Amino acid sequence: MQRKYVIFFLLILFASLISGCVSTTPSPRIEDVTPAISPALTSPPSVPTPAVFNDSRLLTEENVQIKIFEERIRGMLKNGTLPIIDIEFHYGGDMDIDKLIYNMDKNGVALTWLGPNENQGSEESIRLNKLYPDRFVPTTVHGDGQKWHGSDGGFLEKLGNDAMSGRYFAMGEFEGRHYPSNTNNRDVHMPVDSKAMQVVFGASNDTGIPFSLHHEAEDELLPELERMLVKYPEAKVIWAHAGRNRNPVTWAKFTKPDAVREFLNKYPNLYFDFLASKPGSKYQTGYVEGIMYDLTSSGASLNPEWKKLIEDFPDRFVLGSDINSGRFGEYDRVMNTYRTIILQGVRKNVAEKIAYKNAWKLMTGEGWKD
Ligand SMILES: [Zn+2]
Repeated sequence: MQRKYVIFFLLILFASLISGCVSTTPSPRIEDVTPAISPALTSPPSVPTPAVFNDSRLLTEENVQIKIFEERIRGMLKNGTLPIIDIEFHYGGDMDIDKLIYNMDKNGVALTWLGPNENQGSEESIRLNKLYPDRFVPTTVHGDGQKWHGSDGGFLEKLGNDAMSGRYFAMGEFEGRHYPSNTNNRDVHMPVDSKAMQVVFGASNDTGIPFSLHHEAEDELLPELERMLVKYPEAKVIWAHAGRNRNPVTWAKFTKPDAVREFLNKYPNLYFDFLASKPGSKYQTGYVEGIMYDLTSSGASLNPEWKKLIEDFPDRFVLGSDINSGRFGEYDRVMNTYRTIILQGVRKNVAEKIAYKNAWKLMTGEGWKD
């Protein structure tokens, strides 16, 4: 994410020291964490002042944090576990955080993008990251509450500021069209090209931090999304819950993986995570919604056409549990579905990308280094 700016700044600082051009004012962001440097610079040093470069405060908080995340992942790899980065988790205040950590460890989940609800606010994710810096990724609020759906001006302004603050690695999940589910009854539609969504797409476009989008894939609701994907080519959009279809009549296009393929080909800024519901489960319309699975008497498997799609676009899929308070008991099952059907259903190098490498790149802006 912001790492490139830090490296850039260090290069500028280094060049300034060598040339004696010491009056260059660091950006306010860096100045905040940089000790006074002027005394060391009264006589031009032949090498960069060690006191400055060894000071861990110069490694921005974010870089230190990335190191902590990296160590957690490498530790799991060393133990032979394929780590998962869960990019979509709904944190409500009523949740037992120790139980979440227990579940993560039990299921080989290295990191959770901990999106709080709007009552908790983005800061709750920072607070929990400070308590558990090797588990939780600072993530802004989700757009799924009344303030989001009411286009509350204060909420949107703060969301934009949070996203631009450099303190968050990701934004939450923002709802476009949302049908009622088994844990909520929101039958709502925030148009994807609305003013509220422009805040989200714009912030992602300007900062490079990703967000996920909940948008039921009705044929007639596709153009509003496509307009935004074109308008914000640098935004990192993770369209949530691919592999499902809740109404083959109104979702005619997205009855086949070809539609996902077409969108991935058309929009390089688009990513997908998968539906979290149990293979074979039916949506309220009575349809089996998980269209990416083949169901037999011996269980579910990844449909070959979906497998081909995923392997053809190995850099464009990530995993999100979509766990909230109401579905907390589903945690093991969701992770088991992902591991046994999706990750074991594709080539090993593709599974590694889906499990953590793609999410790593989205949240840090840098590819994972083996
Ligand atoms: Zn969703």
